[in-house]
Amino acid sequence: MYSTAFLDLPPFTRAAGTLRLPGSKSISNRVLLLAGLAAGTTAVHDLLDSDDTRVMLAALQALGCTLRRDGTVLHVTGLGGQLATKQAQLFLGNAGTAMRPLTAALAVLAATQGGSFELSGVPRMHERPIGDLVDALRQLGCPVADLGNPGFPPLRLGDGARHALDTRTPIRVRGDVSSQFLTALLLALPLVTAEGPVTIEVQGELISKPYIDITLGLLARFGIQVQREGYQRFVLPQGSAYQSPGSIHVEGDASSASYFIALGAIAGVDAPVRIEGVGFDSIQGDIRFVEAAQAMGAQVSGGPGWLEVRRGAWPLQAITMDCNHIPDAAMTLAVMALFADGPTRLNNIASWRVKETDRIAAMTTELRKLGATVEEGPDHIVVQPLRAWQPASIHTYDDHRMAMCLSLAAFNPLAGAKPPVPVRIEDPKCVAKTFPDYFEALFERVTPVDGAVPVLTVDGPTASGKGTLAAELAARLGYHLLDSGALYRATALAAQDAGIPLSDEPALAAMAATLDLRFVGHEVFLSDRNITDPLRLESTGGMASQVSVHPQVRQALHALQLSFRRTPGLVADGRDMGTVVFPGADMKVYLTASAQHRAERRHKQLISKGNPANIDSLRADLEQRDQRDQNRTVAPLRPAQDAKLLDNSDMGIEESVLKCLDWWAQSRPF
Ligand code: C5P
Repeated sequence: MYSTAFLDLPPFTRAAGTLRLPGSKSISNRVLLLAGLAAGTTAVHDLLDSDDTRVMLAALQALGCTLRRDGTVLHVTGLGGQLATKQAQLFLGNAGTAMRPLTAALAVLAATQGGSFELSGVPRMHERPIGDLVDALRQLGCPVADLGNPGFPPLRLGDGARHALDTRTPIRVRGDVSSQFLTALLLALPLVTAEGPVTIEVQGELISKPYIDITLGLLARFGIQVQREGYQRFVLPQGSAYQSPGSIHVEGDASSASYFIALGAIAGVDAPVRIEGVGFDSIQGDIRFVEAAQAMGAQVSGGPGWLEVRRGAWPLQAITMDCNHIPDAAMTLAVMALFADGPTRLNNIASWRVKETDRIAAMTTELRKLGATVEEGPDHIVVQPLRAWQPASIHTYDDHRMAMCLSLAAFNPLAGAKPPVPVRIEDPKCVAKTFPDYFEALFERVTPVDGAVPVLTVDGPTASGKGTLAAELAARLGYHLLDSGALYRATALAAQDAGIPLSDEPALAAMAATLDLRFVGHEVFLSDRNITDPLRLESTGGMASQVSVHPQVRQALHALQLSFRRTPGLVADGRDMGTVVFPGADMKVYLTASAQHRAERRHKQLISKGNPANIDSLRADLEQRDQRDQNRTVAPLRPAQDAKLLDNSDMGIEESVLKCLDWWAQSRPF
């Protein structure tokens, strides 16, 4: 997951490949609640691991459910309808799929068993309506107290006393703001069917009906058959009791699939994008996004549990569509509309306004930043195709779908953007709500415009601090890191192991060309040997500097170094990153510090690791190494002509990092 302040996507031209989707959020949280209410243990397979499921799991645990993880399976032992804890304060982040059903279930349990529970969330959650559900629960006789603005969380459910509930009168609930209110009642009210059936009547037109189908389908898996008349009247039969199915499988998230379906429709030119985990047999309403994508020109094939999408019509065909049945996935259509042949109009999407953010307003604002002409209405949006693209920094409103949808704007070269523009996604970690590794999944399957993946180089003498600076820059920008010195060091270690003299250029070069080197987090492996510690030894640095004077060795490592340049970007440190390996780098820094400062830093470093060291001899070693690096015939250590010089003798690391980030910011078009 990218936890950076922003993530810059280079412009892309193609997409292809296979990916497995993370589990469906809607199914995951319903299954968790049902398993938590049922008696016995349910083995949940392929559960989504994201912010929204984590808050639900934490809530279940606080309520006394037992959770046991076994690889990709989570075993949930439920309460069997009996509260193990009568009081709890539950924080539910911005997870509507946790807040609504838990409100209903805990209101009923608290009232019938004498409990009291406080439910709260992030500030945005406290702006998301829940009044219609609260009204329905109060009709039933459940005490519900507003702890903030009436009709919004936070709420207190129950007052510690037991209350008789009126389960005879049909419970009325509005269906035109969020279908989650009805879902919440359907999931919770089996708890009060001991005396007789319970009827729920929907007031007003029910929106997002497919989500109710998911709820009914999952209730059936837990042994509860709801009788219904259309989507107006639902009856939970007397004696409805949750029965664990023993084991249940969560299918991939159909809303998350929409980004990859769009990817195939826009950029699956040479090969399809294959999506596994969700297919034509899906129980999720958002699978019907496929029809919308087809209407825009996508070529889609599929079967049970899989889909394959490639580009069909191009440009995409503009559509006018009622999107009430696919409210979440419809956001993806709004971005696809930029690539269409005319205006696209999405109707009946008022629910966008009460989601993670006001999505109609957010989508309009951000598409306009890219240069698009957009008209917003109370319950619709009209998006015109875009040809004159502008580089934009996309605000994401702590809304995972804004981040994922707008990432598709990086395909602007395919819509004729001249020049192609990068797209900045602010706060990329918001995707953790449903798809923590979304950007990784995207980057692995896209081809950037030639030369568009940015490179920052940091060169400089030994112990100048360039390694630390480069690692920090990479971490803050979410870019890959190339520590080129490590390649020379590893070559030296491999040569030592194989007994190759450091003067034997052809043998060293052959060794370097076939180096089996792997970087795993902060560890480095040479074949199967963990060389993380020996790699950093002073003596290894000395050997590396002898190995690196050989032109053939440098040549042998050239292609390997270039291969580190991958989406979304690279920070490379060494001696010749800006001069030889990446002469066209987007920004070059040449970092220096006085020999005395560098010797002192190295001394401190060694002492702190418990290694004895002497400043004077360290300084002599450094100077000898610099001499060799500066005077060799190939790729000698020297600043590139267009490098920015930074002497950090009297600077802390944070100051150097901020200085470089400032230079970088000035060079970006945002
Ligand atoms: O930066 P580090 O101390 O790990 O580098 C070890 C040695 O590898 C350097 O002294 C230098 O001789 C060599 N090197 C190089 N070119 C690079 C990086 C390192 O010649 N790009």
